[in-house]
Amino acid sequence: MIIAVMSKSAIVIGSGFSGLSAAAYLAKQGFRVKVFEKNSQFGGRARVFEEDGFKFDMGPSWYWMPEVFEKFYGDFGKTTSDFYNLKRLDPSYKVFFSDKDQINLPSKLEDIYKLFESYEEGAGEKLKEFLAAAEYRYDIGMNRMVPKPSLSPLEFVDWEVINGLFKMDLFNSFRSYTDKYFKHPFLKSIIEFPILFLGATAENTPALYSMMNHADMALGTWYPEGGMHEIIKAFVQICEEFGVEMHSSSPVTKINSSGDYADSVTVNDQEHYADLIIAGADYAHVDRELLAEDAKNYNEEYWDSRTMAPSCLLYYLGVNKKIDGLLHHNLFFDESLDEHAEEIYESPQWPSKPLFYVCNPSKTDSTVAPPGQENLFILIPVATGLANDNDSIRERYFDIVLNRIEKLTSQKIRDNIIYKRTYAHSDFIQDYNAFKGNAYGLANTLDQTAILKPSIKSKKLRNLYFTGQLTVPGPGIPPSIISGKIVAKEAAKEALCVH
Ligand SMILES: Cc1cc2nc3c(=O)[nH]c(=O)nc-3n(C[C@H](O)[C@H](O)[C@H](O)COP(=O)(O)OP(=O)(O)OC[C@H]3O[C@@H](n4cnc5c(N)ncnc54)[C@H](O)[C@@H]3O)c2cc1C
Repeated sequence: MIIAVMSKSAIVIGSGFSGLSAAAYLAKQGFRVKVFEKNSQFGGRARVFEEDGFKFDMGPSWYWMPEVFEKFYGDFGKTTSDFYNLKRLDPSYKVFFSDKDQINLPSKLEDIYKLFESYEEGAGEKLKEFLAAAEYRYDIGMNRMVPKPSLSPLEFVDWEVINGLFKMDLFNSFRSYTDKYFKHPFLKSIIEFPILFLGATAENTPALYSMMNHADMALGTWYPEGGMHEIIKAFVQICEEFGVEMHSSSPVTKINSSGDYADSVTVNDQEHYADLIIAGADYAHVDRELLAEDAKNYNEEYWDSRTMAPSCLLYYLGVNKKIDGLLHHNLFFDESLDEHAEEIYESPQWPSKPLFYVCNPSKTDSTVAPPGQENLFILIPVATGLANDNDSIRERYFDIVLNRIEKLTSQKIRDNIIYKRTYAHSDFIQDYNAFKGNAYGLANTLDQTAILKPSIKSKKLRNLYFTGQLTVPGPGIPPSIISGKIVAKEAAKEALCVH
């Protein structure tokens, strides 16, 4: 098999997790692979920057599903500890409901059951039942559904999967499903939080995604020492060891095609030819802006009607003192989850009373802030495509969140902020060509699941494939890694055909 593709070449557009994963798997199969990345740093949404002694991960901060990373490394003869030391966080995270009601989510399941029981009689047992079903969904989902290329419904004609689909309440909403288990608003918020970031309201998300609660509570929240960008460094190292040519500051401006074949890409006014082209940049950008009219997979109406996962308003802060009361991960749920979700998904607007997330990685890692100081990353999920992303909006929300952090942790922080950078819609568009400024790609709604997501294979150009968080399986680092693997496998089949 390897001999058959020895002379074949592939170009990967974009160096996010999906692009790096696809590049590594193609290289392992014997392809000569080039990665072209528009930015000067590899990693896409998982880039990093350092300023005044602080090291800020720019995007992802939750390391969930460690087995997906381990599987990736294992496929290349490596293991996680070859690259970084992985710590399990305990407690996993903290949720602020008010200045008095604050919950630390323990890492041990027995302790989580007790915690649930303490808020609602019977909720401990209910959670056990809920998580048993979530584990079943996770196993079927991760082993039988997520790895599918989703090119045809026939892929899912498998007794175990069909049986699983029914058991998984695929056609029920997450909200109606979880309502059967829990009544207390704090418990419901903890159960629903993982899907808020997956990009849909609890009403619109299939109950299947309770598999994320298994990932959260049973598999745990981890942290790679040195920060999340260590994962990108590991992926780049693997790519390079397998001979991938990595090119930064190399934006692809066009995919050139003739007939049903993608011949080459244009980078800095030069054409680069390959047998396969894998687009790991935002799907909508590639489809709408890099392809000729007759080579596009979808039209404008299609893209406009997609439900995008949220964008984010982000603040990277350096603080010159230690902060009490925060853990590594902190969710500020002291306002209505439903109202905020409504303003993200149903009637998109700047949120009236946003929920937000604060990452304080210097609680765990002394390398991300100078001694005695703190590194804070604040994230407000917001609707995509909002107008008025300007300094005054960013300052307004900064005041709102800072006042709430100060109030709920009972301390002053404002005067101790010695570094501040903001990041939002226009930055996502400028840095990543993100459609409507999305942060997390395409929402995992029922009508955007599996075969209903934008296809990994071009309908017009037989050697063009798409990977990343706008296609299967969806947003998040683990799905992006899996997306790269799926695409590399499918694309390699194409390359083995004689042209
Ligand atoms: C703020 C934030 C927080 C997040 N938190 C988490 C988390 O805690 N845990 C988690 O699992 N996931 C999280 N995610 C989601 C996760 O980061 C993404 O799902 C994943 O990184 C997406 O990878 P990707 O390869 O699909 O896209 P990207 O990382 O965006 O990679 C695409 C790459 O293509 C490049 N590109 C674009 N256009 C071109 C072009 N024309 N030519 C060449 N290159 C181009 C871009 O510069 C980029 O490097 C978060 C995302 C964000 C933004």
